[in-house]
Amino acid sequence: MLDLELGEQLEEFARLIRDFAGQRLAPEIPARDRDQEPDPELFAKLAEVGLPGVCTPQRYGGAGMDWLALGLACEELEYVDASCRTALSVHAGLCMTGIYQWGSEEQRQRLLRPLAEGRAQGCFGLTEPEAGSDVRALRTRARREGDLYRLRGQKVWISMGDFAEVFLVFATVDPERGTEGITAFAVERALAGPGLRTQPIHDKYGLRASDTAIVFLDDALVPAANRIGEEGEGFKVAMSCLDSGRYCVASGAAGTIRACLDLSVAYARQRQVQGAEIGRLQLVQQMIAGMQRDYDIARLLWIRAGWLKNRGRRSSRESALAKWVNSERANRCADDALQVHGATGFSEECQAARYLRNSRATMIYEGTREVQTQLAAEYALGYRRDRPLAHPLPAWPDEGPSEGSR
Ligand SMILES: Cc1cc2nc3c(=O)[nH]c(=O)nc-3n(C[C@H](O)[C@H](O)[C@H](O)COP(=O)(O)OP(=O)(O)OC[C@H]3O[C@@H](n4cnc5c(N)ncnc54)[C@H](O)[C@@H]3O)c2cc1C
Repeated sequence: MLDLELGEQLEEFARLIRDFAGQRLAPEIPARDRDQEPDPELFAKLAEVGLPGVCTPQRYGGAGMDWLALGLACEELEYVDASCRTALSVHAGLCMTGIYQWGSEEQRQRLLRPLAEGRAQGCFGLTEPEAGSDVRALRTRARREGDLYRLRGQKVWISMGDFAEVFLVFATVDPERGTEGITAFAVERALAGPGLRTQPIHDKYGLRASDTAIVFLDDALVPAANRIGEEGEGFKVAMSCLDSGRYCVASGAAGTIRACLDLSVAYARQRQVQGAEIGRLQLVQQMIAGMQRDYDIARLLWIRAGWLKNRGRRSSRESALAKWVNSERANRCADDALQVHGATGFSEECQAARYLRNSRATMIYEGTREVQTQLAAEYALGYRRDRPLAHPLPAWPDEGPSEGSR
């Protein structure tokens, strides 16, 4: 049974987030982007409309909506600016999914609830100076001492790291064990002591209204009760988080494409050349047609992945494909939107330039364009197959712990 109608509840929700983002977030973005000043109140604003726990079951403090709601929120937030979507996607897509999917019931109540209720902001710390695409090269060490772990190492390019209270961090308990040593920890800033420090990265090419941090772990303390999953399960935890993070990037990218389409249509209907709207010119129409095509493809791709996730099914292939296609198309559409605007587009006063810079990041994080290309080829060639989830994502929202969940 296939139903492409979102239904009244989700349509209404999307309108609500669109109005919220347009009124509460959009006015500040150009100045924040220009001055490289992320909004310290952004997360609190997202919490005003229940976004931090939008697709978390109510029994863990969330709004009890579903994955399509999260995707719609990402699309609407990125329509304004990818920095707004990034704050939600690292919190809900990456950090919370890991704790929800791999955490115990006690951890879900203790750690997930404050995140879902918007009382704590989460982020995701996987990348290191020498370990990006190659997660196996991760070097951050975790040493157990009684009821504690001490974490030593460095994480880089961590979105929202300067504002987060909870860091889902990946460290190895034994570098000799390769991926089998990687372990996930929910590091709470309040408990980590002086061994946890963060520092913002400035002068980024794009996403300048978004915080991106270096996280220094110098004997940061983590209660053993905050280990997510068993020792050695961290690689699987990270990969399942990325399935959900890529879903958020993909749905967000549809927002960039729609924004570029709307900008370009408005400009093409008012700019006159040789006494006629430039929208009448075939080559301008070609760019606008491409944006419309790409929006429809992008939207269908992320909705397919969300549909699978709502049914508790694995979406690794579909989320990776959606992330790859949508991020590339968003970048292309932003480039075309700039072109439609002529010299006006070459100015930062035109939003197309900001969309172009921002969309470049989505082709790098959560698996680069090349990594996604490789994944798509490996699935097609049969070199890679998705096994059933070791810890199934319960259909979301669900009414009780599902079979196999922890
Ligand atoms: C704005 C921003 C925000 C970020 N936020 C986060 C965050 O919140 N948390 C986090 O953990 N990380 C985050 N990252 C880091 C991001 O996930 C990594 O930068 C990314 O995974 C790539 O790693 P790298 O930069 O080390 O590049 P490398 O892995 O060194 O790659 C360099 C080049 O080699 C190519 N390459 C690498 N491996 C292969 C391969 N197997 N086949 C073909 N080509 C390959 C890459 O595609 C790339 O072109 C963020 C990055 C940015 C830019």
